[in-house]
Amino acid sequence: MSPSLASARACLSSVFGFDSFRPGQEEIIAPILAGEDVLAIMPTGAGKSLCYQLPAIIGDGLTVVVSPLIALMRDQVAQLTNYGVAAAAMNSANDSDESRRVFDLIRRRELKLLYLAPERLARPDTVDFLRRSGANRLAIDEAHCVSQWGHDFRPEYLALGEFRRGLGQVQTIAFTATADAATRADIAERLFDTTPRIFIGGFDRPNLMLAMQAKDSPRRQLLGFLKDRKGDSGIIYCSSRAGCEDLAQGLNDAGHRALVYHAGLDKKVRENNQDTFLREDGIIMVATVAFGMGIDKPDVRFVAHADLPKSIEAYYQEIGRAGRDGLAAETLTLYGLGDVRLRRQQIEDSQASDEQKRVERQKLNALLALCEAPRCRRQTLLSYFGETTQPCGHCDLCITGVLLRDGTVDAQKALSA
Ligand code: ADP
Ligand code: MG
Ligand code: ZN
Repeated sequence: MSPSLASARACLSSVFGFDSFRPGQEEIIAPILAGEDVLAIMPTGAGKSLCYQLPAIIGDGLTVVVSPLIALMRDQVAQLTNYGVAAAAMNSANDSDESRRVFDLIRRRELKLLYLAPERLARPDTVDFLRRSGANRLAIDEAHCVSQWGHDFRPEYLALGEFRRGLGQVQTIAFTATADAATRADIAERLFDTTPRIFIGGFDRPNLMLAMQAKDSPRRQLLGFLKDRKGDSGIIYCSSRAGCEDLAQGLNDAGHRALVYHAGLDKKVRENNQDTFLREDGIIMVATVAFGMGIDKPDVRFVAHADLPKSIEAYYQEIGRAGRDGLAAETLTLYGLGDVRLRRQQIEDSQASDEQKRVERQKLNALLALCEAPRCRRQTLLSYFGETTQPCGHCDLCITGVLLRDGTVDAQKALSA
């Protein structure tokens, strides 16, 4: 695990209080931490703000955020300040006292994030001041505003190119929810001198086959799942360290090649196992959620959960480690009453505030609704992230739905014959 991603995860929980990244966030934050220019397209509500806030918080220097709406800036600054992050805004709503305070903070290099109103971009004094004060990253929110193809063109955004050069070619990262291909190309051309890394975060991963089963005899169910997958690399998540050890033993006894990864192992052993998994084909990593962050193995062919994951976000992130090469990959999640009871107990026993517990309970319920979804699992999953789709036709529920329906037709034929 690269140190910067580890500190990203630490910041995610210590500053924002979230336990996992939303789909796409990790993939976007990693290249940002590595200094690359990035254009990220993610649906509304996906959590784009965090993708520029978090690197700003854990990195050096000042991130200048250009955002079109004063109300939005105000909300974000209030929220960040509330989290203990040094953030401020520079816009026409500031009175002279506030302006002076913000200038002083920047001059003393105490600020991590400065939200800048677009009309400020064209002011040479602002650019000079920010350059001299160590501004080293430019984040452009609602980046479609720069494009006349977009639905929300803002002429002030056209000054961004000049502004960026005035800052001295700082790292540039841009975010939007809208991007048909024409707008996307237009944004990339207007905001960047060279081609940025582009992320398109629709949440659908059509190459992942989704399946869930009520837990009955987990070892038998998993061995069944693995039967035709000898030689494939995969990950099986367990909720406990002991569970990992136990299952790995069982898999090895059955002739598979399983290794273990959890935080209870000696660092050397852990790193060795991880290296082997990355280097060789056909290894099953039996792991707790400690495994996977920052792991980029493109040909992981399956991800299974021996126990219920923590939330839909965690589920999505974990299964998302399969099939990064775009080729078909299988998933299987087992869920049992015991898992649910344990999770409920963990929530109640935790030190979290009542509000946090309420959120955790809601998340658990949403996950259970996915486990027990009456129709297309992919549709249910994507709707959780705000995407509306048609039934996919190839998740477990779509397939059994077809079998049932055809079965019914047969039965009716048989009855009417
Ligand atoms: P966007 O700009 O993509 O529309 P926001 O950045 O406004 O989305 O985030 C939407 C909501 O998601 C916010 O309430 C934010 O706090 C929440 N959020 C972002 N990242 C996470 C995460 N990793 N876990 C839980 N909630 C998150
Ligand atoms: Mg946003
Ligand atoms: Zn489906």
